[in-house]
Amino acid sequence: MPDLQVRSICVFCGASVGKDPAFRAAAEDLGRLIAEHNIRLIFGAGSVGLMGTVADAVLAGGGEAIGVIPDFLRDRELFHKNLTELHVVDSMHTRKRKMFDLSDGFIGLPGGLGTLEEVFEMVTWRQLGRHEKPIVLISTNNYWEPFDSLVDRVVENGFAHGDTSTYYRTVSDPASAMELLTSN
Ligand code: AMP
Repeated sequence: MPDLQVRSICVFCGASVGKDPAFRAAAEDLGRLIAEHNIRLIFGAGSVGLMGTVADAVLAGGGEAIGVIPDFLRDRELFHKNLTELHVVDSMHTRKRKMFDLSDGFIGLPGGLGTLEEVFEMVTWRQLGRHEKPIVLISTNNYWEPFDSLVDRVVENGFAHGDTSTYYRTVSDPASAMELLTSN
């Protein structure tokens, strides 16, 4: 077992499972690996979609899953009932800040608009020097390719500078993501 610097990892992913069964398989693999590495999962507390899949796999592996949910979603009972810890906060903004504070790094699995927004915010905070926590996108079946292309376009056109790999990295599978996060 490597000497881990990453003790808690935040996973951003869909509140739906998506159409490709490979997305759910990746979420299960990631949850299992997070538990195996004794890393705590920080996530949006949902019981549904890939969010729920990752959390279920972490808990099934004997790991810890910490959810952060805004009160309006909790009031709709849209949260996972078997979490190690549940933090209820007053807004989506507070939620993201709390997830950031609790985490040593971030992983993006496939997801929808909410996932894109969460990933982009962590990337922009890093670009602005607000943190140096690693951000890794798991590009199951090249899911994140258009995101990478868009960021390349931004750099090519002079709207961001330098090598985008300094902001985030893209890998093809959960094992590669875990290796990146635990090997430095
Ligand atoms: P998306 O990538 O569009 O599926 O959005 C993922 C985001 O959906 C999460 O981070 C949450 O903000 C939100 N979300 C939707 N449903 C739930 C739920 N049942 N529990 C927690 N968060 C949810």
